[in-house]
Amino acid sequence: MLAAAHEGAGGGQVIVCFVLDPAIFDRAGPARQAWLAANLLALRETYQGRLTLLHGDPVDVLPGFAQEHGATAVHVSTETQPFGAARDARVRAALAEVGVEWVETGSPYAVTPGRVRNKAGDPFAVFTPFARAWRDHGWRAPAEEPASLQLADAASGPEPWAILECALARKGVPELPPAGEAAALARWRTFLSDGLQGYAAHRDRPDLDHTSRLSPYLKFGVLHPRTLLADLADCRGAGADRLITELAWREFYADVLHHHPGSLDADLRDGLTGMAYEEDPQLVEAWQQGRTGYPLVDAGMRQLLALGWMHNRVRMVTASFLTKDLHVWWPLGARWFLDHLIDGDLASNTHGWQWTAGTGTDAAPYFRVFNPVLQGVKFDPHADYVRRWIPELRHLCGAAAHEPWKQDDGYAHGYPQRVVDHADERRGALARYEAARGGN
Ligand code: FAD
Repeated sequence: MLAAAHEGAGGGQVIVCFVLDPAIFDRAGPARQAWLAANLLALRETYQGRLTLLHGDPVDVLPGFAQEHGATAVHVSTETQPFGAARDARVRAALAEVGVEWVETGSPYAVTPGRVRNKAGDPFAVFTPFARAWRDHGWRAPAEEPASLQLADAASGPEPWAILECALARKGVPELPPAGEAAALARWRTFLSDGLQGYAAHRDRPDLDHTSRLSPYLKFGVLHPRTLLADLADCRGAGADRLITELAWREFYADVLHHHPGSLDADLRDGLTGMAYEEDPQLVEAWQQGRTGYPLVDAGMRQLLALGWMHNRVRMVTASFLTKDLHVWWPLGARWFLDHLIDGDLASNTHGWQWTAGTGTDAAPYFRVFNPVLQGVKFDPHADYVRRWIPELRHLCGAAAHEPWKQDDGYAHGYPQRVVDHADERRGALARYEAARGGN
């Protein structure tokens, strides 16, 4: 995008500008606000202060700003999520009224959502054929920042920066990873040399922490997937192949949301519309605070509160527990995740939840209910992950921490009793499922 703006300006000066839109920013939870703030502050440093920050609805603030600085065009990366796409259409129209061109270049994806189609020209509904077609479609190498790029000084007032400083200082902000592109690239290089080889074998193990942890950087475009894919093209082996597949999931979910904007707050498939849900506030709170009495679930929910991030396997287990053990409709959990994740992303989050709840893209059968204890024993075999996040269980050795109810001193340090019985709730979930299907 910067390269396109540079070219569009005939090699002249370019203003780098970010609009802090209250309609988005004010609705993001403190974690995501702080993470955005940290990265914008890092970007300002990278550009030696030449980053303009505006605050307001871009429809109101951008046309005046462009006119004031004699800009002939505004370059953006294409927005394909429902709110952003609708907003951009309005901004484009407002800019056209003052004679300023709107230019969209690329998107935060390797392939802009909406472009990968099947032979009939239709979007894909299922991941595997999408991923195949996405790989066949291919992508260009990431554009280099032009060496002759000149950034103009278009100082913005202090008010928007103060909003960012406040967001960073707010209570309840989790421990953030290092912000900015240099930190993201450093993380990526470390992962390439130390993590990629074992990625395919260990990516499901929360205790080993063997994933890239790049999702927060990808979320805000601090790192572009094409940068990763370009490096992965030079790598061989199961780790590289698996990571490309995981990046394809991100692209797939963005594509699905692009084609089905209504899936943000409604089941994608209507097979379970008659399902009976519940929303017991005490149970929901136990889940949110990591006090369900199921160690793997609680460890994940506490990791989320502490870091604004949770391991993928544990996201699936905690989401399954809310939807199938506590019988809560998935949007409540999706909202909680979105409010607390620093990588909180409408597409990946909504469809990660819908996948787990059995209402989404994959024909993931509803009756596959994760057993939180067996998942713990399998993917956290020594319970190191559980002990890391649950101090009340640190006195228990090895896998015993997954089943404190079997230990004489399991509850000696205040760990809560199980809020429900998994076997009963599993049966209950299946009965609800059968009833809903019977009604359809
Ligand atoms: P790695 O394993 O290193 O994977 C590399 C990258 O591939 C990730 O950074 C991510 O961009 C992408 N990726 C990996 N797995 C998935 C996946 N299942 N779906 C989509 N993209 C994937 N991811 C988000 O980025 N934001 C979210 O809000 C989000 N919410 C989720 C909610 C639920 C209920 C579930 C089950 C998954 C969710 N995910 C979300 C997907 C996944 O959990 C995270 O992308 C992953 O845990 C990030 O850690 P990582 O960067 O170490 O992943």
